[in-house]
Amino acid sequence: MIPFLDMKSVYAELKPELDAAYHRVMESGWFVLGKEVEAFEAEYAAFCGTKHCVGLANGLEALELVLRAWDLGPGDEVIVPSNTYIATWLAISAVGATIVPVEPTPGGPNIDPDRIAAAITRRTKAIMPVHLYGEPADMEAIGALAARHGLKVVEDVAQAQGAKVRGRRTGALGDAGAHSFFPSKNIGAFGDGGAVTTDDDALAERLRVLRNYGSRVKYVNLERGYNSRLDEMQAAFLRVRLAKLDEWNERRRLVAARYDDKLAGIAGLGLPRVPQWAEPVWHLYVVRTKRRADLVKALEKRGIGSLIHYPIPPHLQQAYAELGLPKGSYPLAEELAEAVLSLPMGPHMPLDAVDEVANVIRETLTG
Ligand SMILES: *Cc1c(COP(=O)(O)O)cnc(C)c1O
Repeated sequence: MIPFLDMKSVYAELKPELDAAYHRVMESGWFVLGKEVEAFEAEYAAFCGTKHCVGLANGLEALELVLRAWDLGPGDEVIVPSNTYIATWLAISAVGATIVPVEPTPGGPNIDPDRIAAAITRRTKAIMPVHLYGEPADMEAIGALAARHGLKVVEDVAQAQGAKVRGRRTGALGDAGAHSFFPSKNIGAFGDGGAVTTDDDALAERLRVLRNYGSRVKYVNLERGYNSRLDEMQAAFLRVRLAKLDEWNERRRLVAARYDDKLAGIAGLGLPRVPQWAEPVWHLYVVRTKRRADLVKALEKRGIGSLIHYPIPPHLQQAYAELGLPKGSYPLAEELAEAVLSLPMGPHMPLDAVDEVANVIRETLTG
């Protein structure tokens, strides 16, 4: 049996540190907005290379609150990948702004900068690139476009904590970076969590107000805010996870390199292609094949987990039916949705398990 993601080994490896964090918070008697959140914010900002980190309740609200803090709303357009998890789109609709999807590079997964220029209008206010599967989007090209047109850039870093573009971390490559600490992410909490990283003092301050009912001073409300706070227990756990993030990402890199090696040269199997300027963190290892159904069945028979990220692109979801974007509107995103398959991946995956998965794939597709 090879699980898609081995979550139990996370606790097994970090038990003494996580248990100590639990006891520290329980004994402190303080559970929301305190020393642990402050310490995690400082440590995570230092890790990303930004001036500020603001801890929030989850990744979706991290994206949404950045747009709110920039006062984006009805009439404003936000450019977003057609090929992404629906949460990226939900943040834009939550503030009432207009979603402007842009197709990925051929083979994907990330937004194609060459197609962004054609989508920019006088109403465009922001670009929201996603570093899908832990592979950085082309932030240099996106940054250049944003500068030329006076647009804000908010990175969706939910799948790419620790990834780099030319040595600089994701989350520090735009005006703001929105992070998710959902348990399965590269740095995951044991529950929900999120954060925004930024160098912008005013943005950080506004986010601190927005996350706490619109209040800076207790019972004095400056605006209608949210309750979107990272809690002390999750922050304490995240400090333990952060200390391991680079090391665990490195272990993911070894798994990915082994897949690259063992899956090379199989006809009809597309492997991830990493641009030379990018250091991905392999949140997922995603292959592409027209024979996905056969492959899933063969893997399942051998007790090997696999998942599809994502089977239905956002524009074809019922949730966005009112946008009136029929099948064929975003053919590259649709093509990827039909072909992608995520193989088992994680910092606890043994390399001989990678070999076993690769053997089943080779047998199935070449046999
Ligand atoms: C997980 C994820 C989110 C949402 O994060 P939550 O913490 O689950 O709200 C947003 N965007 C992408 C690309 C994600 O993978």
